[in-house]
Amino acid sequence: MYNIVLFGPPGAGKGTQSEKLIEKYGLTHLSTGDLFRKHLGEGTELGVLAKKYMNEGRLVPDEVVIGMVEDKINETKNSTHGYIFDGFPRTTAQAEALDKMLAIHNLAISGMVALDVPQDVLKARIKERGKTSNRVDDQDEDKINTRIKVYLDETLPVADYYKKQNKLSKINGVGEIDQIFHSITSVINSYS
Ligand code: AMP
Repeated sequence: MYNIVLFGPPGAGKGTQSEKLIEKYGLTHLSTGDLFRKHLGEGTELGVLAKKYMNEGRLVPDEVVIGMVEDKINETKNSTHGYIFDGFPRTTAQAEALDKMLAIHNLAISGMVALDVPQDVLKARIKERGKTSNRVDDQDEDKINTRIKVYLDETLPVADYYKKQNKLSKINGVGEIDQIFHSITSVINSYS
């Protein structure tokens, strides 16, 4: 059973690589961005709450995200071979909460795989995705810049959190999708 945190800035390729990883390892994809977009589409109370943060490129408050992830883990824990956490945790408080909720079920994070991509490449990728993604937050230069700034200020410390636990592996996130996938699977296959 693997529980993997796939980490990186917006536009790093987490969604693309997650799809390939769930296919290879039969894991449950837990993308908080996707879950929020689903709530938004369905017009739930949670979706309405998250919308203003998402559209501005800011983080949804920790307690809201943590509650949503807890529900998803409780729903799926008996039927899964493990999780790919994508876009979560995005703050140190979320990382601490994740460790606690996994420990309740006798689980732990196997490792964090961090995709390294330079800022100019990120911006170009997000703008390209914005042409087809219908995401308000992919289409506006200011919002893209806010998301990258939020990543640097609030999310990057999460890598240190896993580094201290000797669970951080960095991967070059620029290049062919299959080559990057190969690098990620080499890391995952080294987990005991
Ligand atoms: P993503 O698809 O992962 O880029 O997420 C899109 C947006 O959803 C983010 O810009 C945030 O507004 C919100 N979001 C997703 N995951 C989180 C999280 N773990 N913590 C706070 N906000 C989140």
